Amino acid sequence: MKQEPYLLTPGPLTTSTRVKEAMLRDWGSWDSDFNEITKDVCQRLLMIANAQASHVCVPIQGSGTFAVEAVFATLLDRTSKTLVLMNGAYGQRAAKILQRMGHAHVTLDKGDYLPPLPHEVEELLIDDPAITHVVLIHCETSSGILNPLDSIAQVVAEQGRQLIVDSMSAFGALPVDAAQLPFTALVSSANKCLEGVPGFGFALIERQALSVCEARSPSLSLDLYDQWQYLEKTGQWRFTPPTHVVAAFHQALNEYAEEGGQAARLARYTRNRDRLVSGMRALGFATLLEDEWLSPIITTFIAPSDPAFSFSDFYQCIKAQGFLIYPGKLTEVDSFRIGCIGQLFEAEMDQVLLAVASACQTLGVTLDAQHLPTKSE
Ligand SMILES: *Cc1c(COP(=O)(O)O)cnc(C)c1O
Repeated sequence: MKQEPYLLTPGPLTTSTRVKEAMLRDWGSWDSDFNEITKDVCQRLLMIANAQASHVCVPIQGSGTFAVEAVFATLLDRTSKTLVLMNGAYGQRAAKILQRMGHAHVTLDKGDYLPPLPHEVEELLIDDPAITHVVLIHCETSSGILNPLDSIAQVVAEQGRQLIVDSMSAFGALPVDAAQLPFTALVSSANKCLEGVPGFGFALIERQALSVCEARSPSLSLDLYDQWQYLEKTGQWRFTPPTHVVAAFHQALNEYAEEGGQAARLARYTRNRDRLVSGMRALGFATLLEDEWLSPIITTFIAPSDPAFSFSDFYQCIKAQGFLIYPGKLTEVDSFRIGCIGQLFEAEMDQVLLAVASACQTLGVTLDAQHLPTKSE
């Protein structure tokens, strides 16, 4: 069988063979065997965030956006006003959801490559006492920027407002400690740093905050209060769960623990990122972001100015060598992205660099290359 391509994309991503194999069996969604899996998954997710004492974990069917929308639908009401800290496509999406749901909101838009700063957030909150909630994207996957979660969470808590974190592409790799970090809700999904397959998302929500949200959601299927209550009472998901996906995710969590948990995963992704960034720079590519803001999740590279460069040709050349990369998602500059997450190690990053170098050669793209990587490096 031909080796399937590696996904250098931030979810869906390359999963392990054992994770894929975990999907080769059918489960009864009401059966106690499956309920045990759901319970264990939720407990382990809470433990990753050290949130067992303060928060509950509510899984929800669908992609990550469904989980973000479910959190907004469940927690926000007519009296809420939300400040969205925006620096890319996912911040924009959060604002769009609020817009569609008719929830009052304001935005701080930092463009494509600058982080929201704690003092800016503080000033906005002081100036507008009507703001009840703040939404922050932990790692803005559209550029790869790692936003300053800890310092912004402190400011939001000091100002007595509630923080909702979209930690979709960061949770599991970047540390989150609910005992130190004040947040009302944190959202992530199965197919990012925990390396499962796509099919559900989950929210860690402060028990206190969720317990007052009965009948608030205007959407039935996205009501996390109901989902939580039903899970508590029956051990089951309220509507058909993605059984195979949950079983695969359980296996992914086993492998996460085997690898050494959050610290080990962060270390591996960081090594991948460092290998990638130094190799790409050596080839003559520039990163969009300053080193300080580079995440170990995904890196945006500026497209070469040489007219011989076209992303679609570049993509096909790299695909022919067994790797799928990601187009850019920026509003102003031409760019492309390469992810560091999933079952990828330094050996694969070296192969990607060789594939990039060879694609440039094939397309006749000139870069200010210092040297090309060789197999022996
Ligand atoms: C992946 C991602 C989402 C969710 O995207 P879906 O396509 O709905 O899974 C939301 N926010 C961020 C920051 C993401 O990286």
